[in-house]
Amino acid sequence: MIRYGALEILAEKEGDKDTLIIANIGLPSKELYEIYDRKANFYMLGSMGLSSSIGLGLALARPDRKVLAIDGDGSVLMNMGSLATIANQHPDNYLLVIIDNGAYGSTGNQITATAGLTDLKEVALGAGVRNVAMVSDKSDLKEKLDTMDNGVLVVKTEPGNKKVPVIKLCPADIIKRFMEISSPPSHSR
Ligand SMILES: [Mg+2]
Repeated sequence: MIRYGALEILAEKEGDKDTLIIANIGLPSKELYEIYDRKANFYMLGSMGLSSSIGLGLALARPDRKVLAIDGDGSVLMNMGSLATIANQHPDNYLLVIIDNGAYGSTGNQITATAGLTDLKEVALGAGVRNVAMVSDKSDLKEKLDTMDNGVLVVKTEPGNKKVPVIKLCPADIIKRFMEISSPPSHSR
């Protein structure tokens, strides 16, 4: 399985729900856009490393909504402190899915530390996240997405990118439609 296969399963399992999805910068966003575009997908066009942080903030702001952030191993390695914040806030409506292909996929598949000795499942546990799992095949990923509502799910994949076009939405439109669907209902005074 490469990242695209994992994203297809995420879209199949969560796409028709009202889950708010944050997609990591670069190819993860482009691939998800190609697989299943929806208003409740937020495609990061900048801010490498911050998918997990954006997802956490959103989950804390909207405890009534399920939030799923898709991140990569390179980005989590860049913003590892986010795992400690997630552990200490531990909202029960927030699932961080780390697609770990051992490579900086969007910049040419240069290897990351997880291709060596670093284990992001152990890092998440060490940070204090209580609900952590790791899967490496499609059936286990489907099962975890059915049963795991929060915490950190590491999905081990092979490196590799699908050739996909650029996202045809402009940044202002991405944030506008996402805010419309993720904002709490306004209260009349
Ligand atoms: Mg990667």
